[in-house]
Amino acid sequence: MKITAIKVYQSDLPLVEGAYAWSEGKSVSVFDTTVVRVETDAGLAGHGECCPLGPVYLPAYAGGVRAGLREIAPQLIGADPTAPGVLNRRMDYLLKGHPYVKSAIDVACWDIAGQAAGMPVCQLLGGRYGADVVLYRAISQRPPKEMAANVAGYRKEGYTRFQLKVGGAPDEDVARIRAVRATLDPGDVLVADANTGWLMHQAARVVKAVGDVDVYIEQPCATYEQCLAIRRRTPLPFVLDEVIDSIDMVLRAAADGGCDVVNLKISKLGGLTKTRQVRDLCISLGLAMTLEDTWGGDIVTAAIAHLAHSTPEEFRFTATDFNSYVTKSIAAGAPRRANGRMAASTAPGLGVQPDFDVLGDPVFAV
Ligand code: MG
Repeated sequence: MKITAIKVYQSDLPLVEGAYAWSEGKSVSVFDTTVVRVETDAGLAGHGECCPLGPVYLPAYAGGVRAGLREIAPQLIGADPTAPGVLNRRMDYLLKGHPYVKSAIDVACWDIAGQAAGMPVCQLLGGRYGADVVLYRAISQRPPKEMAANVAGYRKEGYTRFQLKVGGAPDEDVARIRAVRATLDPGDVLVADANTGWLMHQAARVVKAVGDVDVYIEQPCATYEQCLAIRRRTPLPFVLDEVIDSIDMVLRAAADGGCDVVNLKISKLGGLTKTRQVRDLCISLGLAMTLEDTWGGDIVTAAIAHLAHSTPEEFRFTATDFNSYVTKSIAAGAPRRANGRMAASTAPGLGVQPDFDVLGDPVFAV
C-alpha cells in the first residue's frame, strides 16, 4: 500500500468552561487543532490529530504542527502507511526532532493499518484489557473554593480521579489541595499538577504542608533535576510529565527511582508507534502511566482510548477524554464518556469519521 495524498485541516475548539488555566498564569480559551488525512492507493484513508496546549506549554505550537507538516508531507508520498517502523524512521530522517509534527501522520497510518487488517487499533497495539478505561478530570486553576465546587460537580458526572492545576502561589495551592481532598471519598484519586510552575523552595513548602494529605504530586518544577530534588524530600507519590519526552528519560527516572507514575502524551513522544514503545517499557519497569495527549478533540480522544484500552489495567493510572472539554465535535464515532469512563471503538482502525462540513477545506494538501 502507498500513500497517495496528505491533506491538512485546521479547526478551533472552544472550551466548555470558557477557559483552561494552569501554572504561572497560563491559560487557553480556544484550542487550535490540526487534523491530518492520509489517503492511499488502496482506497483507504486514515486520520490523526495534533493539538498543542497553546504555545507556552511544551516546545510545540499549533502553527509549528502545520509548518512541520508542510516540510515533511510531500516527501511521504509513496511511503507504506502499514509499516510504522519504516515510516517513523523516514520521518525522523526528514525532520530532526519536532516529534509533535509527526504524531498525527503516525496516528493516521495506524488508522489505515487497522482498517486494512479489519481490526481496531487497540488490537494492533497489544489487545484490549477490560471493559473500559477510567478517566481523570483536569480541574482548571481557580480560587480553592471554586475548584472544590468544580470537583464536586464532575464527581456527580461519574469521575473519581481529579488532577488539580496548581503551580501558583504556594499558600493558595496548599488551600486548593486541602479544599478539594475534603470533598472526596477515600477511594478517589487526587493529583496536584504544578506543570513545572514551582521553584524548588516553593515546591518544598507545598509538599511539607500537605504531607498528611492523600495526594499525588505531579511535575513540581521545570527540570528533571529539580523534580528529583523534591521527590527525595517527600514521601508523597510522585508523577513526572513534561520532562518525560523520550525513552532515555523514562530509563533515567526509573534508574533514579525518580517517580512512581509517568505521564505519556502521544504527540509529546511523536505518535502511537513511539508511545507504544515507551508504554511497553514502562510495563516492564513497573511504572504506571497516565495515557493522554497535550489536548485535542474527537480524533485525539479516539487515539488515547485505543492506547489506554491496550494497556493492562493495573498500569493505567488514568487517561483523558479531551473531546468532553470542548464545545465542537470534529468526528463521528469517537468515544463518549459514560460515568467517568470511556472505551475504544470496536470498529476497524480508530473508528472515527471526520466531519468535513465542520473541518472545511484543507489548509494545504499534497
Ligand atoms: Mg501533567
